Amino acid sequence: MVDFELSAEQQAFRDLARDFARKEIVPIAAECDERSEFPLEVLKKAHRAGLLNLEVPEEYGGAGLGPFEIALIAEEMGAACAGIATSLLGNGLALLPIILYGTAEQKERFLSPFCAEPKLAAFCLTESGAGSDISAVSTTGRWGEDVYVLNGVKSFITNGGLASLYVVIASTDRRRGARGLSAFVVPAGTIGVSSGKKERKMGQRASDTREVILEDVRILAGNRLGNEGQGFRITVDTLNRARVGVAAIGVGLARAAFEAARDYARQRVQFGQPIASHQAVQMMLADMVIAVDTARLMTWRAARAFEKGEPEAERYSAEAKCYASDMAMRVTTDAVQVLGGYGYMRDYPVEKYMRDAKLLQIYEGTNQIQRLMIARRL
Ligand SMILES: Cc1cc2nc3c(=O)[nH]c(=O)nc-3n(C[C@H](O)[C@H](O)[C@H](O)COP(=O)(O)OP(=O)(O)OC[C@H]3O[C@@H](n4cnc5c(N)ncnc54)[C@H](O)[C@@H]3O)c2cc1C
Repeated sequence: MVDFELSAEQQAFRDLARDFARKEIVPIAAECDERSEFPLEVLKKAHRAGLLNLEVPEEYGGAGLGPFEIALIAEEMGAACAGIATSLLGNGLALLPIILYGTAEQKERFLSPFCAEPKLAAFCLTESGAGSDISAVSTTGRWGEDVYVLNGVKSFITNGGLASLYVVIASTDRRRGARGLSAFVVPAGTIGVSSGKKERKMGQRASDTREVILEDVRILAGNRLGNEGQGFRITVDTLNRARVGVAAIGVGLARAAFEAARDYARQRVQFGQPIASHQAVQMMLADMVIAVDTARLMTWRAARAFEKGEPEAERYSAEAKCYASDMAMRVTTDAVQVLGGYGYMRDYPVEKYMRDAKLLQIYEGTNQIQRLMIARRL
């Protein structure tokens, strides 16, 4: 049986997120983008509303939601502001390694105090020389007595300057490449941890992106997640799941762009009639909504597959991320086209949607890398 109906509980989550996004995020999205600033006030409100740390089990203070409910929430956040959505959902990306690979003691030690307060977390994988090629990570985790000493610089880290907790992927055995990687939990404030200057970005400017610098950071062995050498597996499992959220942000972002284009087309008059009466514009609007609906179905399929532990879940999430982000780029570009010159101006929201959409094709594994993964599976 295939059922596209949401349960009453799922509808309630979606409505809660939609209401929150419209009241708390939409009104400030343009200003946060302009000032390139993440609104800490929204973090506090999201925490109070139960819309933070979505995948953390309730026993550790999180929302305890499954991938499907998270996708519903991510779509609503993405429709309001993809940058703010990226930062808030970035907690899930950073905490998943602990949820998936932490011991009960580590979950209690790291997740419970983190979730008790409105805090941000950051997942630190990328480096200047290691983007798509994870095996090139050069941050080292050298073993000394009962501590590891971490050294390296992580690039483009979401929440990099605001996080209370970092999950860092480092090499504990350079000779083994990807198989020599390990994952560590590094609390902010640990001696030797600092962040670089804020990156000046094209889009998603409301999310804080920075270098995270690790200089002789001493971490107890009890902060290592899983075994030595398991860092690659931890990274892959984390990103495969988190990508469903990226796809959902793309669906929301494109939906918002479509709605803005549709509403504008109804009231903009040219040649004596609303431009929505011109068939060429109608075709664009119809194509937009077809694409949004298709991407949502793919996203829901991926989310469901993770819930059920289906073997094809990883491929579905790669397909959904690829399709939804490419779709968001196309739909937001078309939305700018429907608004004509006004679409190009900052007074209207659609140019921001277009700038924000571009990042979805790049982060959490570029779409080229997703296609490689899909092709390998075939
Ligand atoms: C705003 C922002 C936020 C980010 N947040 C985080 C974060 O929180 N944590 C984190 O760890 N990282 C983060 N990243 C990093 C992001 O995941 C990487 O930028 C991404 O994985 C690509 O790496 P790269 O930029 O080094 O590009 P490269 O790997 O250098 O790729 C450049 C181009 O080459 C293509 N390419 C590379 N290899 C292949 C191949 N084998 N086959 C075909 N094409 C290929 C890529 O698809 C891309 O088009 C963020 C990036 C940005 C821009």
